[in-house]
Amino acid sequence: MITRSVATVDSLTWQEQLATSIRDPKQLLNMLGLDTSLLDGALNAHEDFPLRVPLPYLQRIAKGDPNDPLLRQVLPLGSELLAAPGYSDDPLDEQNSNPVPGLVHKYHGRVLLIVSPNCAINCRYCFRRHFPYQDNKPGRSEWQHALDYIANDSSIREVIYSGGDPLATSDKQLQWLTEQVASIKHVQRLRVHTRLPIVIPNRITDSCLQWLTSTRLIPSMVIHSNHPNELDKEVANALYRLKRAGVTLLNQTVLLSGINDTLSALQQLSERLFEVGVLPYYLHQLDRINGAAHFEVTDLRAKQLIAELTAALPGYLVPKLVREIPSANSKVLIL
Ligand SMILES: *Cc1c(COP(=O)(O)O)cnc(C)c1O
Ligand code: SF4
Repeated sequence: MITRSVATVDSLTWQEQLATSIRDPKQLLNMLGLDTSLLDGALNAHEDFPLRVPLPYLQRIAKGDPNDPLLRQVLPLGSELLAAPGYSDDPLDEQNSNPVPGLVHKYHGRVLLIVSPNCAINCRYCFRRHFPYQDNKPGRSEWQHALDYIANDSSIREVIYSGGDPLATSDKQLQWLTEQVASIKHVQRLRVHTRLPIVIPNRITDSCLQWLTSTRLIPSMVIHSNHPNELDKEVANALYRLKRAGVTLLNQTVLLSGINDTLSALQQLSERLFEVGVLPYYLHQLDRINGAAHFEVTDLRAKQLIAELTAALPGYLVPKLVREIPSANSKVLIL
């Protein structure tokens, strides 16, 4: 059923693909031919943080396999509701680096702008799953405060569009925002942190390329792919368009138990990324957000994986293993 509808799904606009996302755990299990024994847990966890998976992503999930590495990223599980020591609702303490609504200034020379509170997909390990987005609801007047803050601090050289997912916003809004950022003389670089090219590759429209590459700002994009199965032909096409337009493409991955914590998954991911024009940037240790404890990989195992990757691949295909620590002034390298 899913394969038969491929042509139709791909011919929808990105907005239509967003609007037709699967949000019902029962429907997801049915469509994938999965056992209904997963349903009770899924419904409970879905109440805490809803299921959301767009059809272009769903197409890449194998039917009948509860351990599919893409499914595991989106399927709510009952075990998310178990409390785990060291896990909390704001592990990064970002709520203390939020000088004006919608802006996070924690690292020297760069600020995060929460451009959109929405995501195209809900990833179960997400460190923003309990973020108080109601207080960070962006629009032009809220952005104006953030823009004033950036204009008043000449140490800020890079503005990072973040979220949620910044590309969940319309190109019209992004065009406006980017022109405002470009008008601040000391800002040199624009970076977009997004999972949308992976989840809904049709999001990379001509008008998206237009605002991203038509200002004096040097554009880069950090996509967020966790597994080689995510990088299908449609994704490759979207990335190719970005690259051809002059956007530097990097990837960050979250290391996730049962999803990508093997040498073969990480090696294939790096090689496939390079094939589609993207360099591996960061391999993140999980942020300890409530609900994600079952995804944790120990530092010992993570370091072992990096050693194995280093032995197997050229240096430029080995991501940096990092973790975020609330008090640190950059991501912290795990050596
Ligand atoms: C990750 C992150 C950045 C960007 O860090 P880089 O090391 O430049 O990629 C900036 N601010 C915050 C709060 C971050 O979490
Ligand atoms: S796309 Fe990113 S911000 Fe959105 S739910 Fe997934 S991990 Fe979280």
